[in-house]
Amino acid sequence: MRILVTGGAGFIGSHLVRRLLADPRHQVVNLDALRYSGNLENLADVAGHPRYTFVHGDICDAATVEQVLKEQGIEAVVNAAAETHVDRSILDPHSFAKTDVVGTAVLLEASRKAKVERYLQVSTDEVYGSVETGMSTEEDPLIPRSPYAASKAGGDLLVRSYWTTYRFPVLITRGSNTYGPHQYPEKFIPLCVTNAIDDQPLPIYGDGRYRRDWLSVHDHCSAIEHVLLNGRPGTVYNVGGGNERENIAVAEMILEQLGKPTSLIRFVEDRPGHDRRYAVDCSRLRALGWAPTVPFEEGLRATVDWYRTHEGWWRKIKSGEFRAYYERMYGKRLREGVTG
Ligand code: NAD
Repeated sequence: MRILVTGGAGFIGSHLVRRLLADPRHQVVNLDALRYSGNLENLADVAGHPRYTFVHGDICDAATVEQVLKEQGIEAVVNAAAETHVDRSILDPHSFAKTDVVGTAVLLEASRKAKVERYLQVSTDEVYGSVETGMSTEEDPLIPRSPYAASKAGGDLLVRSYWTTYRFPVLITRGSNTYGPHQYPEKFIPLCVTNAIDDQPLPIYGDGRYRRDWLSVHDHCSAIEHVLLNGRPGTVYNVGGGNERENIAVAEMILEQLGKPTSLIRFVEDRPGHDRRYAVDCSRLRALGWAPTVPFEEGLRATVDWYRTHEGWWRKIKSGEFRAYYERMYGKRLREGVTG
């Protein structure tokens, strides 16, 4: 299959590109605008692969998208291009609406016109909103509570409408909090790991008792590939790792592995509208023959080791644009602190 992966230079996209290339039946085209989290170093090992092509472009740009679909003879599209960080969506909601809603609309319409055979939208469990008890099923209402989650939900609704309106063969995966190598260090786990390596404080929002279901990037990508190849058109599939943990517990595990003291933990002023818990029921995807394979302790250990042995990758990032972002996000919070 000739597959277009958008956002392939990002965290999940780059793992997905590598995974798809491992199957000799696939040709992979990666369309990425190389925003702050897009990094071609993530794919340096496959840059010269004979079945891989990189195109620098924006999913909001219809002419570029149409040209790529046509010239590359694309048969399937996986949309992993997005603005992805909740905190940044609070600082700059507009760019999230642009890429996650308008970009999705442009890509969908171009894909429909090009008669693409399968279109998969990579979405998130955050569209269900905070789930204090129980698990979200795919039929639950979408009650997003951050500009990020709301933009992703908008994209999902457009994608679903292409099935009901045009019978365009769409699929949606809603993955839970994902972790692994090559994740931009603004996200919780790599932020904790890289700060701890440098003996810097680990900023923990509120009381630290927020719960997330952690999913290894390897399991997330195996789920995306499985749904792309086997999913029923018009269907949404939840993807979760079955590893629910409180943020504070994850931070403590990281410190323990790195041999750093828990005194590095700093409770800071909470994120506005912070969702307390996400949890997804994955029985639909399990019935389709997928199951996660990476136990959290093992996956986290490997991830911490990766950041420990790839300092060049994240130090370059942390010394650039990231610095100003970090100061804006955490500078005052860390100076003032709160009691957890
Ligand atoms: P990321 O921020 O690491 O990567 C996003 C990529 O998209 C970057 O390479 C960026 O350059 C590219 N991009 C951004 N805007 C673009 C545009 N307009 N046109 C083309 N490319 C553009 O994000 P990620 O964590 O890899 O997330 C990928 C997808 O997975 C997103 O849709 C996200 O919502 C979803 N998701 C992520 C998680 C998670 O925990 N990381 C969990 C569930 C779902």
